[in-house]
Amino acid sequence: DLKHRVVIVGGGAAGITVAAELKRHDARLDVAIVEPADVHSYQPGWTLVGAGVFTRKQTAREERSLIPRGVQWIKAAVSAFDPDSNLVRLSDGRAVGYDYLVACPGLKIDWDAIAGLDETLGRNGVCSNYRADTAEYTWRLIREFQGGTALFTQPAMPIKCAGAPQKIMYLMADRLKRRGKLSASTLKFCLTGDALFGVPFFVPPLQKAVDGYGIEVCYRHTLKAVDGPKKTALFAVAGKDGATSEVAMQFDMIHVVPPQTGLDVVRASPLANAAGWIEVDPATLRHVRYPNVFSLGDAASTSNAKTAAAVRLQAPVAVANLQATMSGKPMPKAYDGYGSCPLTVALGKIVLAEFAYGGKVTPSFPFDPRVPRRSMWYLKTKFLPWLYWSHMLKGGTIDIKHRERGW
Ligand code: FAD
Repeated sequence: DLKHRVVIVGGGAAGITVAAELKRHDARLDVAIVEPADVHSYQPGWTLVGAGVFTRKQTAREERSLIPRGVQWIKAAVSAFDPDSNLVRLSDGRAVGYDYLVACPGLKIDWDAIAGLDETLGRNGVCSNYRADTAEYTWRLIREFQGGTALFTQPAMPIKCAGAPQKIMYLMADRLKRRGKLSASTLKFCLTGDALFGVPFFVPPLQKAVDGYGIEVCYRHTLKAVDGPKKTALFAVAGKDGATSEVAMQFDMIHVVPPQTGLDVVRASPLANAAGWIEVDPATLRHVRYPNVFSLGDAASTSNAKTAAAVRLQAPVAVANLQATMSGKPMPKAYDGYGSCPLTVALGKIVLAEFAYGGKVTPSFPFDPRVPRRSMWYLKTKFLPWLYWSHMLKGGTIDIKHRERGW
């Protein structure tokens, strides 16, 4: 059977970054990545695909080209975690043993939780930026939109990139405004929660964008079903008294963001907590029950914003603490919960929301982060993709300092 010193599950943002950093520190370390997919996606670019700013091609690379030199790629999916025997089982029947495991297989986007969605997604005006192909369809719908009703949905938290459900709404509103079609359009933001954003500090600039475009916000609305041919969406609406009612809305276009959970293979494993996420210490990223297991990225139980930005800061912590654990030393690094969400309030303008555990505002730049800025648009469209592909995934060492500032 197969056995490696370090096995990484998932070759996404977290898996590749961790592998590259481990190899940079110790080129001889025996590392394997278990990853079934041929294509690796830069998911933060999908919002821009939906808005017609990036092509889908710009967000995808061959997985093969990203596996760091000297790392063994096991091209299969993990079908079970067996941490009591220090092995993972693969979908092709094999098992892979390890001394240390880094589990970062991402999360499950639960498309099936919305009745009728599967049959109609990508057709009948039903789109989603949470998949590359249907993000392309988002852009087609926006380009061809001549007025009517557009709905944007957001499920319960946590989801990856909490801002993404509304980013595309502002970008569409701005495109319609420029084409003189905004007054002929009704845009509605239907969200399960009762606030525009989880960190109150960043709500005012979003409220300003909502008001400026004339977007109607429907709080406590959870999408339950979509009928594509009939162009109807059904929502469960939670009343303040706890009672739930159902509301049907007509649409010409709907951008859907389904609920998100831990992957089934994680939920079924001893690694998961009750909520279905891999249960790690929020600071050290080491598993609370299995000291030879680390986790980071979307799969982990940490309460940070599930973003690639978070992964960029988590990876050096997980790697340093794993190396220390391998050599029997105390773990030297702690993650502060940093994550970031570039909120595209207009074409060319971004509010860069950066925050850590407890909603602490932790900007990287010394100016008021609530102000929409063109410089942050360049950061999102030029600098961050470069940082991701050419630096982070290569195990790079640029350390951009973010800190708590007094606002
Ligand atoms: P992923 O990158 O999703 O990688 C998980 C990997 O695990 C995948 O390659 C998958 O194939 C593999 N895998 C799955 N199941 C198994 C299995 N059983 N066995 C082995 N491997 C498996 N982040 C930002 O920082 N800024 C943004 O603006 C932003 N916008 C976003 C917009 C959208 C529409 C989306 C969808 C995401 C956005 N994100 C953003 C979030 C960011 O992309 C994720 O947080 C990040 O990719 C998480 O990295 P990860 O490695 O944990 O998961």
